[in-house]
Amino acid sequence: MTENGKIAGTPPADDVQDFDAIVVGAGFGGLYMLHRLRSLGLRVRVFEAGSGVGGTWYWNRYPGARCDVESLEYSYSFSEELQQQWAWKERYAAQPDILRYANHVADRFDLRRDIAFDTRVRSAVFDEDANHWTVHTDRGDTVRAPFCIMAVGCLSLPRLPDFKGRDSFRGQLLHTGLWPAEGVDFSGRRVGVIGTGSSGIQVIPEIARQAGHLFVFQRTANFSLPARNRALDEDHVGRFKADYPQIRERARHAPAGIAGIPMPTESALSQADAVRQRVYEAGWERGSTGFTRLYKDLLTDPQANDTAADFVRAKIASIVRDPAVARALTPRNHFIGTKRICLDSGYFETYNRDNVTLVDVRDDPIEAITPAGLRTRSREFELDTLVLATGFDAITGALLGIDIRTSSGATLAAKWADGPRTYLGLMTAGFPNLFVITGPGSPSVLTNMISSIEQHVDWIATCLTDLRERGVRRIEADRASEDRWVEHVNEVADQTLFPRADSWYVGANVPGKARVFMPYLGGLGNYRLRCAEVAARGYEGFVLQT
Ligand code: NAP
Repeated sequence: MTENGKIAGTPPADDVQDFDAIVVGAGFGGLYMLHRLRSLGLRVRVFEAGSGVGGTWYWNRYPGARCDVESLEYSYSFSEELQQQWAWKERYAAQPDILRYANHVADRFDLRRDIAFDTRVRSAVFDEDANHWTVHTDRGDTVRAPFCIMAVGCLSLPRLPDFKGRDSFRGQLLHTGLWPAEGVDFSGRRVGVIGTGSSGIQVIPEIARQAGHLFVFQRTANFSLPARNRALDEDHVGRFKADYPQIRERARHAPAGIAGIPMPTESALSQADAVRQRVYEAGWERGSTGFTRLYKDLLTDPQANDTAADFVRAKIASIVRDPAVARALTPRNHFIGTKRICLDSGYFETYNRDNVTLVDVRDDPIEAITPAGLRTRSREFELDTLVLATGFDAITGALLGIDIRTSSGATLAAKWADGPRTYLGLMTAGFPNLFVITGPGSPSVLTNMISSIEQHVDWIATCLTDLRERGVRRIEADRASEDRWVEHVNEVADQTLFPRADSWYVGANVPGKARVFMPYLGGLGNYRLRCAEVAARGYEGFVLQT
């Protein structure tokens, strides 16, 4: 950088391409944003690091990858024709089907012609005088537009822990979030998996079926429920599609953006034990992340939470045959639901196989990756393949991976050093005309991501239309409104058990990351009303300049 905030090596001005808006990312957020902006008549350039569309579903191709929101709800609602014509095969769609769907959407709405693939955005600089963003990419593009929209995803920067000797491993080292497109053959191999979050819990049963031997290195035992995935039957789909308009409307106002998971009204503690057990048993049989929303106090009251956690702990004990393994797999250090609850297909049953060994690395920590495998404090493991299911630098990682700054010298990295600060998760004060889709401080990862994406994209598209009609060239979050919003996000989180868990929601999985509860827990329905009110009051809490 030079002193005046211009990037060194900036090409001459005539190499700069001008657009009305720049969108970063061609996952579900970027695709829909492009579609909406184009329908407003705007000229848009989208940059995408991958070779194709789909975002998280483009990169996470590991065997067993599957969405934990039902496919009929985890899909766009903006086009009645699209939702009527697209045929989902399974209750919970597998990654290849979701990627096919993303590609279908890109083709159906002719989106590819405005997307530059295999192109990673390196920096975005706001010119305070001219009111435009200049974006530089790793392929040497320089583009300029009054508005820049970050659709970079919440779980898109994979985290590879810095194990001693990590790069010395002679075998195959993989991360679930960067899976090779050509697939991996585990037949007869000695495989290690580090991590038992949603990705680990999905990939472990699949690898176990193929591998010679599988070692699972678990630091934290996790709560998981059987997904009860199945092929969708035509009658159910027909009824669902006939009701789509009402179902989508319910989803838009539901706390998790899912019609099938409404707001609970009963307290777990107000019910007799036998009644509660029946409710949990029905929840277990149903197979849904809605399990922690069966009662209104499960995520706020430790005693209520224990009733649900104990139910799942007893299930683990009943599935896993070896009592010592069952004990090690039983979560005891966090409240159920305060780390993302998992849905699995035969996860706990996998530990009854002779070719699977659980290694508890909380008791016996990983000391190093070695050329031949992995060494814990007490043992050496020879491995052909090591799979890191170790998660992501979530919510802020991909945003801060781009050098975002203004011509007056402010950087997003400095502003967010103690944790992200936004107004409504949509904008951050000091960075005008920069929108974030499902940014920190919005419901995002606590909801059906597609419901949240549609709400943000629609709000941004309406905002840009309103600004154009009023001749406004610059919109910025007001700092005092941002402060109040951040305080509100924290207050709501502090009324729950969530902040007590060492989860990626608080950045605990990344050493040195500020511990802040990043998503907004107020529910998508309430949040949607709030955003709509803000717009209706002339963008209350934002500063507009003509
Ligand atoms: P994750 O939930 O962050 O899990 C990472 C796992 O790796 C944890 O078990 C963690 O242990 C372990 N780990 C990390 N660093 C380690 C280290 N240095 N040593 C030992 N163990 C280590 O990541 P994820 O499983 O990829 O899931 C992330 C999110 O993506 C999910 O919560 C979900 O929102 C989304 N996702 C969804 C689906 C789905 O829809 N079904 C599937 C996959 C992912 P600790 O718990 O001790 O930190």
